[in-house]
Amino acid sequence: MPGGHSQTLRPFLWCAERLYPDTEIVSRTHEGRTRHTYAEYADRTAQLANALDEHGIERGDRVATFCWNHTRHFETYFGVPSTGAQLHTINPLLPDEHIQYIVDDADDEIVFVDPSLAGKLAGAAEGAEEFADVDFVVMGSTEIDELDATPYEEFIADQSTEYDWPELDGDQPAGLCYTSGTTGKPKGVEYTQSMLWSHTMASQTPQGIPMEDADVVMPVVPMFHVNAWGMPFTATAAGAKHVYPGPSPDPADLAALIEEEGVTISAGVPTVWLGLREHIAEGNDVDLSTLDTVIVGGAAAPQSLIEWYDDRGVEVLHAWGMTELSPIGTVSHLTSDLRDADYETQVDKRAKQGLVVPGLEFEVIDENGEEIPWDGEAFGELRIRGPWVTKEYFARPDASEDEFVDGWLKTGDVVTVDGDGYIQLVDRTKDVIKSGGEWISSVELENAIMAYDGVSEATVVGVPHERWQERPVAFVVPGDGVDREALVDEIQAGLHDDYPKWWVPDAVEFIDEVPKTATGKFSKKDLRERYADQSLVEGSVPEEDAPEQE
Ligand code: AMP
Repeated sequence: MPGGHSQTLRPFLWCAERLYPDTEIVSRTHEGRTRHTYAEYADRTAQLANALDEHGIERGDRVATFCWNHTRHFETYFGVPSTGAQLHTINPLLPDEHIQYIVDDADDEIVFVDPSLAGKLAGAAEGAEEFADVDFVVMGSTEIDELDATPYEEFIADQSTEYDWPELDGDQPAGLCYTSGTTGKPKGVEYTQSMLWSHTMASQTPQGIPMEDADVVMPVVPMFHVNAWGMPFTATAAGAKHVYPGPSPDPADLAALIEEEGVTISAGVPTVWLGLREHIAEGNDVDLSTLDTVIVGGAAAPQSLIEWYDDRGVEVLHAWGMTELSPIGTVSHLTSDLRDADYETQVDKRAKQGLVVPGLEFEVIDENGEEIPWDGEAFGELRIRGPWVTKEYFARPDASEDEFVDGWLKTGDVVTVDGDGYIQLVDRTKDVIKSGGEWISSVELENAIMAYDGVSEATVVGVPHERWQERPVAFVVPGDGVDREALVDEIQAGLHDDYPKWWVPDAVEFIDEVPKTATGKFSKKDLRERYADQSLVEGSVPEEDAPEQE
C-alpha cells in the first residue's frame, strides 16, 4: 500500500535529510574526527541498503553490529531496519559464551565489527559453530588481521545513493537487543518499527527528553545498549547535530567533544558523569557552558551528582528505563506545581526516577498482590505496559510467563510512588536486603554513602547473617589520598543520624573498583559472593540496634 501510513522509522530521516541537509554528524575516531552532513549520511545509508540487498539480505533477516558509538554504526540504525531487515546490536563486553549464544539465537547473517573489537569477536567466533555461516564487515576502509572481513567502505563503495525504500508495516521487526541477564541466558527483546516510532515520539514530548534542530546531541550510552536509549532516532527526528564519542571514550575525550562541538544534550550512566566530575575536580578546566542537559539513567543518579552539575549550570535529567521498554519509562521533570518549591524539595524530586512518560501505564503491586497507595512510603513491584514495551522475549514465549502478567511487564524493580506521582526505585526485587524480617533499601544507602566527600563510588549488598538472615555491607571506592579510617567513621556516624540504626551497614569495605556488568551497572553478584560462605555472625550489630520487629 503506497503512502507511508505505518509507524516506521524512515520518515524521521526523510525529514532530516530535506529540512536539515547541512547539519552534521560528527564522530570521534582513533584517527581524528569524521564529519558528514545529513545529506551525505542519507546517501551512505542508501548505499548500505543496496549493499545489504546485493549481499542477499532479505526482509526479516538479522544483521548484527559489534561496535562503539560512531557514524558508521549510526548508518546501520536507519540503513538496516528501513530495508525491512532487523538490526541486532551486540554488546561487545559480554563473555564469549553469551556472544556465541545470542548470535546463534538471533541467527545473524552478517556482523559489522569495529577494528578495535575484532580481536574480541574473533576470539568468540573461533571454532564456534554458531558463527559457521556468519559474514563479517569491518568498520573501516582496510582489511584486518584478526578476521576475514570486508572493509565497510569497500562494502558500500560501488552502490547507488538511491534506494527504493519499501513500504513497511509497523509490526515489522526493526531492532533486537539482549538484556545482560545477571543469571541465566541473555534474553532477546525485539523492537518493531512501531515500537521505535512511538518511543521516538514519546521522547520528543516535553515529558520525555525532547530535542530540537539547534541541539547538539552526544549519546555516551552505548549504541549496543537499547539503541543508545533511542537518542540517535530522537536526534534525527529533531534534525539535531549528532556527536558520537567513538571507541572507549575517557572523561578527557568527552570534555573535548563537549567543548569543541558545542554539545547541548548528552546521556549516560552515572559512572560517566561521576568520571567527568572527577576529571574537573582534578583541576582540568572544562568549559561546560553549551551543555544544557545530561540525561542520567541505567542506575540511580545520586543527589550529590545532580547538585554538582546544577552548580555548573547543567541540568541533570534523571530517567529510568529498561531494555524491555525501548528503554524510556520515566523522566524526572519538575511539574509546574513544583517550580516555585525550595531547591531542596526540587532536588529531592529530581533524584527520584520520575514521572511516567505519556503513553505508558503502570501499577505497583505489593507482596499481598494489592496495588499500593501513592504515599511515597508503601512499596511494591512496578508493572508497566504501553506501545513501546515488549510483550514477550524473542523466540522464548514460553520463558516469558514469570515476567509478563495480564499484558503487564513485571519490571523486577521495587518502587514507591509519592502523592505527585513521582516513582522512586528503592531496589531490585533481587537486591532488597531483608534484615530481621524488615526491609532495607540498598539503593538508598548507596546514594547516601556516595554523597560523602572522598567516596567516588559505593555499593551496598545484603550478606547472609546467622540471626538477622541478612545484613548490609557497604563497598566503597575511595578517592585519592583519603583517610580511610576517618571516612568510615564519618559514614557510619552520618548514617546513624539519618537512618534507623539497623540500616547502618555492618561493615564498610574498601575496593579499587565496583565490579560492573557488561552494561556498566554495579554487579552486586561478585561482591555478594565474597561473603557467600562466611556468614556474618552475631555481634556484628549491637543488640540495642537490632530491628524491633523481630
Ligand atoms: P537494562 O535493561 O540493562 O537497561 O536494565 C534495566 C534496569 O536498570 C532497570 O530495571 C533498573 O533496575 C535499572 N535502572 C535503569 N534506570 C535506572 C535509574 N534511573 N535508577 C535506578 N535504576 C535504574
